[in-house]
Amino acid sequence: MDSKADRQDLDRSGNSGQPHSGKALPDWMEQVADGIYCVDCDYVQPRLACAYIMVNDQGRAAFVETNTSLAVDRLLEALEDIGLSRDSVDWIIPTHVHLDHAGGAGALLERCSNATVLAHPRAARHLIDPARLIESSMQVYGEELFKKLYGEIVPCDESKVRTMEDGASLSWSNRQFEFLHTRGHANHHFCIYEKTANGVFTGDSFGIGYPDLQKHGPFLFASSTPTDFDPAAAHESVDRILNTGCNKVFLTHFGRFDDLGEARGQLHRSLDFLEQLLNDSIESLGAGQATSQTEEDSLKNRMLKFWTDQLTGNGFESSEALKERLKMDASLNASGIVFAAGRALKKATREG
Ligand SMILES: [Zn+2]
Repeated sequence: MDSKADRQDLDRSGNSGQPHSGKALPDWMEQVADGIYCVDCDYVQPRLACAYIMVNDQGRAAFVETNTSLAVDRLLEALEDIGLSRDSVDWIIPTHVHLDHAGGAGALLERCSNATVLAHPRAARHLIDPARLIESSMQVYGEELFKKLYGEIVPCDESKVRTMEDGASLSWSNRQFEFLHTRGHANHHFCIYEKTANGVFTGDSFGIGYPDLQKHGPFLFASSTPTDFDPAAAHESVDRILNTGCNKVFLTHFGRFDDLGEARGQLHRSLDFLEQLLNDSIESLGAGQATSQTEEDSLKNRMLKFWTDQLTGNGFESSEALKERLKMDASLNASGIVFAAGRALKKATREG
């Protein structure tokens, strides 16, 4: 569990020297560590996806994640609520280019004139020229839903995008970042270890842990959304994050998470399960026993059962509402697995 000392630090820091004006924060924003704020971007529903504002001892600010263009007004309001101006933003750091993480990067950059975007080398070109990203998302969601979810994707000015290699570090006054390329969820994903907080901003590399599903005990599950799911790499990424020696993580979905011992076990079990699903899909699709659609439906149901069994074991009542709560994630994970199975089969044919 999180150390008590940490929480006490946090309580103290609430009344001490931070730029935070002392004014009560809105209910969609929370201080989660000394100088670190979690902003609920209200993406799809409340407390599903967040972005973080990190402040250093010079009163300079950094965003980790931007959510979509539609969240940018709120992010700027959050900055104002802690007494900082747009000009004080030095860094905008999306963990990867999936649109609930980086969709707002260009729009935010336009409005923070001193900011530089720090990006994974494979993410940078999509941030600078989002055409392909937009096209592939529109194929998945259709134009109408795409617009509703993401608004307009603004390209990032190339001269303001800096790429960070694996293992690169960056000093920022009292804070120190280390960038870890973490494959498994997306090939353009990195995590940011921040030494002073002793925490890692994990994007989608350390599972999804919604606050409303934690009330009877920790509950994290791995994400296998399209198109780069790779279970072996994802296992490695989880270990790499823990090997930083961090004592907390900052999840994009959603918030600070402290029980890292429990997380390690749950995430590896969750990835083992997804790997089993992937192998089963490769077999049934390969043998022509299933179509992509029937396979996705069956995976979705198996995933829902795996999660609800775990949650009812924790003390949740088994209900349709609980399944309904997890349906979207089950669908996204299932389609990522079918996609990965298709890719594995194509590769086998080419090599066969
Ligand atoms: Zn993602």
